Formats: sequence, structure tokens, C-alpha cells
Amino acid sequence: MTVVNQLLGPLLAYEGPRTPPKTLDKVVIANRGEIALRILRACHELDIKTVAIHSEADRDLKHVRLADEAVCIGPAQAAGSYLNIPAIISAAEVTDAVAIHPGYGFLSENADFAERVEQSGFIFIGPKPDTIRMMGDKVAAIKAMKEAKVPCVPGSDGPLSDDVELNLKIARDIGYPVIIKAAGGGGGRGMRVVRSEAALPNAITLTRAEAQTAFSNSAVYLEKFLENPRHIEIQVIADQHGNVVYLGERDCSMQRRHQKVVEEAPAPGITDRQRRTIGDRCIEACKRIGYRSAGTFEFLYENGEFYFIEMNTRVQVEHPVTEMITGVDIVKEQLRIARGEKLSLRQKDLVIRGHAIECRINAEDPRNFMPSPGQITHVHLPGGPGIRVDTHIYDGYRVPPYYDSMIGKLIAHGETREAALARMRNALAEIIIEGIKTNLPLHRDILRDAGFAAGGMNIHYLENKLLAS
Ligand code: ADP
Repeated sequence: MTVVNQLLGPLLAYEGPRTPPKTLDKVVIANRGEIALRILRACHELDIKTVAIHSEADRDLKHVRLADEAVCIGPAQAAGSYLNIPAIISAAEVTDAVAIHPGYGFLSENADFAERVEQSGFIFIGPKPDTIRMMGDKVAAIKAMKEAKVPCVPGSDGPLSDDVELNLKIARDIGYPVIIKAAGGGGGRGMRVVRSEAALPNAITLTRAEAQTAFSNSAVYLEKFLENPRHIEIQVIADQHGNVVYLGERDCSMQRRHQKVVEEAPAPGITDRQRRTIGDRCIEACKRIGYRSAGTFEFLYENGEFYFIEMNTRVQVEHPVTEMITGVDIVKEQLRIARGEKLSLRQKDLVIRGHAIECRINAEDPRNFMPSPGQITHVHLPGGPGIRVDTHIYDGYRVPPYYDSMIGKLIAHGETREAALARMRNALAEIIIEGIKTNLPLHRDILRDAGFAAGGMNIHYLENKLLAS
């Protein structure tokens, strides 16, 4: 009997052809610019080889030169290169890579991409495809959050129907102003604020039509519109063994056209107790949805209350401010999690040290915000204690006109917020980027602003300041 069982055991357990588990020793970096360089550095620190994939316009990117291998995957236009799923997977195949890191933007929150990566036998460095899909549907995301008792904006429970009377009642119960949002929306699109009952039915019809065109999903929902909130978000990391920690919060209220300009951590005025309460809710949500890798819960914060708006299932541009105050390397953690390792940090070990601020440096005209691509003739980067610069630019680098205008991030850390502000002011005085226009003058202005120095301004503060100047 024993013999038969021993023979049958492996046969019964057979589940189809299986390739032996590979060690995560080579990563395709499916992105460009500063985040591609950031990922490359993390990989090399962990002795992981890198494959840079790039467009025809990006041969001179710094990380392309530093990578172990580089593959040109298509033309300058992102649709043919950085958004070209078959080309990226082919690049992973021909280089015999094991995993793909999507960075932020491009395909980073595309569930179909994550699924294709996994189906092709590679590790996707991020959450499971189903998690990305659920969080990409804001109605489903809010439902999951409510179940985990994460505080949400008062709103319609689920998508709106075509019943005008019912919709009017829902809005009346919530109280005007309300905001109609596309379930599949993103990038600040697919939203409409409604201030009176008379305008509601038409606004729903319009937003629905726009949502169908832009996101191929006509589902819309309704929320209370908060007039003067701050944007505060919680960073989490989760391994594949059910361990989750939060790494505190970031305040990203300095925005222009829903684009973050300056971020900081911790958020001014948030108490340890508030941080613990909201952080614990985020951990609970991650556990319930089986979250894996790095992620961010975005909240609006008004009158001392947090209101969940969406979850970003990827590394974010502003992750360095969290790294500076916690000492955790978020990208290295993503790689370790993908390798199947357990989190090295336990929640009770989290210590927040000092304060960090980040300025996003864009190649754009500081007066009219028009992109300013072209050749950088000279760069001088600042330094000294507490200064970090994440950028791919160098003397002679040509900023191509095809992509996002962000060319780097300047990060300052200090023992206190005042110390971090002073360091940032010094760094902004030292930094030189010549040949193209940048938004450095705007940052120098913000760092001299009394309201910003006081801290805790709302998401309209920067736009109002720009209108007044
Ligand atoms: P997206 O995925 O398009 O970024 P979000 O849901 O994150 O959409 O909302 C983007 C921005 O729109 C927020 O940062 C905030 O400025 C504004 N916003 C969204 N919902 C509300 C709301 N209920 N009240 C006030 N402002 C809101």
C-alpha cells in the first residue's frame, strides 16, 4: 500500500506542466525617467539584474545606459512603446527576465497588463491583477472600503440608476453641493460638481455620456462635495504572507489642476492617535482584499475627519518623503515582497523621524505652465545633509516632448518641519538647470509663502495663490 501511495501521490498531485520556480534575479523596468532609475538602483542594491525597455526617443536615458541590458521596444509615441503590452512581454522573454516592475503611470494600474504578465510566466511587481481591477472600479473600491470600516465620503451606495426621482432623493439626503464621478474615472477626469437640484439630472446624463466615451464604462456615482479639504494619503506595504504595515501619511494638498506639486510627510497637525486610527483601518482593508506590494489610500481630510476617495495600487511619485521619515526603502520592499519574503518591519517598530518635503521639478514655463522640452546645457544639483535628488537628467540630456514633463524630484529632510523647509530653501537656491525652462521659480515662491510655511493648507490654496499673483 505504502508503495502504491508513494507512486500515486505525485501523480495525483500533478496539475499540468510546471516550470521550476525561478529566483527573482532579473527585472524588466517597464517605465522611463526618474522612476526607472529609482527602480534600477533598488534592483542593483539587491544584486538583481536589470533590463531597460525604452522607446526610440529614449536611447539616452540615464537608466538605459546603466542597465545590464536594454531593448528598444517601439516608437516615441507611448502607445507603441511604454503602453505596448506584447512588446514589453517579448522583451522579458528574449532577455530571460523573471519579473516586470511597472513603476507609476503607463501600465502600472492596468489589470489586463498585470494578468498578461502573470499568464506569460513572469512575476508582476505589484498587487494581484484582480485587486488592481477592483480598485480601478471606484464603486467596487468604495464598497470594499466600507466593509473594512474605512471612512468614505457620504454618497450613493453604489452606481446611480436612471431613476431621476431616486437620484434627486439621494442627493437631497446627502445635501448639496454633490459631485458626480465616473466609476472608471482617473487622472482627475470624469467628475462634475452640482450645486443645485435643478442642475442634477442633466449633470448625471452628461457625466454618464463622458464616462462612456472616455472609460468605456457609463457607471457613475454621487458623493458629497467637500469644499475645502486637504489631500492626505496613507502608504502601506503588504507581503504575500498576510503581513501589512502602514508607513504613516503624506500631505499632498499643494496641487495645480489636480496635479501634485509639493508633498510632505508627516501631514502637519495630524496626531499620533489619528495616524494610528486611520492606519489600522487601512491595514484591515488590505487584509480583507488580500492586498500585496506597496499601495496608497488617498483621503480627503476636512474638519478633523478622513474620507477615502481612491486607492493607488502602485508606487507613487511622492514615495521618497515617506522613505526619508521612516527609513524604509519602498521599492526594495516591493522587490523583496515579489521574491516571496516576509516584511522586515513590524508595525510596532515603525518610527517616524523628522519631516520631509518634496518638490516636483517639471520642464515647463513657470508662468504659463507650457511644457519646455529641449536640451539641458548645464545641471548643478544641490547636496548636503538631508538632501536627496531623484532625477535622470545630466549635462547635455535632451528632454523629449512626448512624455510627462516631470524631470526630477528634490527632497529635503530635517529633524523638524522648519529644518526641512530651511534645507529645501537652500537646495532650491543651489540647484541650476540651464537650457530649458523649469518650474523651479514656482517652488522658490511656494517655499517663501507664509501660508505654506504655516502648514495644513487645503487643496485650493496653490491655485488661489497663483490666481492672486
Ligand atoms: P482621480 O482618480 O481622477 O484622481 P479622485 O477620486 O482621486 O479621482 O479625485 C481627484 C480629485 O478630485 C481629488 O484630489 C479632489 O481634489 C477632487 N475630489 C474628488 N472627490 C471629491 C469630493 N467628494 N469632494 C471634493 N473634491 C473631490
